[in-house]
Amino acid sequence: MSKNERSIKSQENFRNRLSSVDDKGKRIFIFPKLIKGRFYKYRTYFSWFLLVIMFGLPFIKYNGRPFIMLNVLERKFIIFGTVFWPQDFILFLLAIISLILFIILFTVVFGRLFCGWACPQTVFMEMVFRKIEYWIDGNAVQQKRLAKAPWDGDKIKKRLLKYTIFIAIAFIIGNLLMAYIVGVDETFTIITSSPTENWTGFMLVLAFTGITFFNFAYFREQTCIVVCPYGRIQGVLLDQKSIVVAYDHQRGEPRELPKKQRSENAGDCIDCYACVDVCPTGIDIRNGTQLECVNCTACIDACDEVMDKIHKPRGLIRYASEHDIEHQKETKINARAIAYSIVLALIVGILSFLLTTRPEVQATIIKSRGTLYSVSDDNYVKNVFNVAIVNKTYDEFPIELKMSDDWNARLKVVGNQIVVAPESITEGIFYLEIPMDKLPQKSTEVGIQVWSGNKMIEEVDVMFLRP
Ligand code: SF4
Ligand code: SF4
Repeated sequence: MSKNERSIKSQENFRNRLSSVDDKGKRIFIFPKLIKGRFYKYRTYFSWFLLVIMFGLPFIKYNGRPFIMLNVLERKFIIFGTVFWPQDFILFLLAIISLILFIILFTVVFGRLFCGWACPQTVFMEMVFRKIEYWIDGNAVQQKRLAKAPWDGDKIKKRLLKYTIFIAIAFIIGNLLMAYIVGVDETFTIITSSPTENWTGFMLVLAFTGITFFNFAYFREQTCIVVCPYGRIQGVLLDQKSIVVAYDHQRGEPRELPKKQRSENAGDCIDCYACVDVCPTGIDIRNGTQLECVNCTACIDACDEVMDKIHKPRGLIRYASEHDIEHQKETKINARAIAYSIVLALIVGILSFLLTTRPEVQATIIKSRGTLYSVSDDNYVKNVFNVAIVNKTYDEFPIELKMSDDWNARLKVVGNQIVVAPESITEGIFYLEIPMDKLPQKSTEVGIQVWSGNKMIEEVDVMFLRP
C-alpha cells in the first residue's frame, strides 16, 4: 500500500475499527520501531526508578512487619506499616473514593500521563519485555520477517530463547505479586517448600506467572485497549483543555510528501509515518486523541527526529491540549480541575482525620445465636453473648469485661480470661446475669465496658432480654 493510500485509509477508518484488528476482526500483531529520543531516555530512567521501587517495597519492613501488604485472601492490609482490617471498611471506602477522584482530577488536567510513564503494564512492556525482544529478534522489520518465516532452526532457537527469558521474568513478577499479597517471607516459604504443603500459594504463583507471560508475550496493547477500565473511560474524563500527546494540525496540515517542490501552503508534516511506525498501539496520532493512545511519547520522539532532519522546529507532536493547539495559547488549569481539587482536598482531610483518630482496638458484642434467656433460682436473668475483639496493634494484652451500671449484675467469661493476640481477632463467650427486678422491660439496653488494665478501651451497648 502506498503512503497516500495508507493515509486515506487511516483517516477514513480510524473511528470505525481498532488499529490492531483487521477488517475481518483478526488481531494485527504490532511491531513498533525502536524509538530513540529525549522522552524515551527520560522514560527509561524513570522506569528504572519505578522498577527499583516495585521490587524493593515488599522487602521493606517496619516493626518487623511488611511496610506494604495487600492480603486480599485474608482481608488484611498493611499500608505504610499500619494494619487495616475489614472493620476499617469506612476508611478503605474513603481511600478508594479519594483515589478515584485523584485519578479523575489528574486525568482531566494531565491526560494519560500515568499510562505512558508509570503504569506497570507500560513499564514492563516497553522497558523490559520489548527491549529483550529487540535484542533477540532484531528491529521491527526483522521481527515481522521472523514472525512470517517458517519454523526453521534459527526461528526455533530465537523463540526458545525469548520465551524462556519471558517465562523467567513472568515468574519473578508472579512472585513479586505474591509478595505484595502475603509478604516476602511467606512467598519465600511457598516457593522453597513442596507444592503439596501450600497448594493455594503454589497455584497462585503459577497463575500470576501464566497471566503475566500471556499478557507480555501475546496480549500486550490489547490490555490497555480492551481490558483496562481506566483507558475505556478516557472519553468522559478528557476535555478540550486536558494536556495530552497531540498533533499540531494547525502547523502540520496540509501534509505533503517531501518532494522537491512542496506547495506553498504545505504544512510541516511530511507524511513520513515515523510517528505511526513507533506507536505500540498502532494508531495514527494525527487523527486526534484516541482511546488507544497511552501517551507513551514515542511519536513525539519520532517526529522530533524528523523535524530535526528537515530543519523545522520540534514539537509538531507534543504535550498540549486541543484548546492550546486550536487557539495557540497555554491553558493549564480549568474550572473543572479546581472543583475536583477542592473535593479531593476535603476527602483527603476527612481521611487523614479518621486515620489519625482510628481506634487500634475495637470490640463487637452480640447475643449468642439461638439463645434467649434463662432464669436462675435466685431470680437472676441470664443472657449469653459473643465478644470479638480486633487488635490492630503489635501487642498482646488481657481483656476484662464489666457492666457499665451497678445493677448487682454478674458477668462471667466462659473459659479462661480473654487474652488478645497481636494483629488478630480474638473471640470469646460470656454470660451476664441481672436481677429480674432491675429489668423494667422485656428488652433493656445495657452497656458493657471493655477494659485492658486500668484503661477502658470501648463501651458497647447490647440488648438484654428477660421473660
Ligand atoms: S512523524 Fe511527524 S512528519 Fe512524520 S508523519 Fe508523523 S507527524 Fe508527520
Ligand atoms: S499515539 Fe503516540 S503517544 Fe499515543 S500510544 Fe501511539 S506513540 Fe504513544
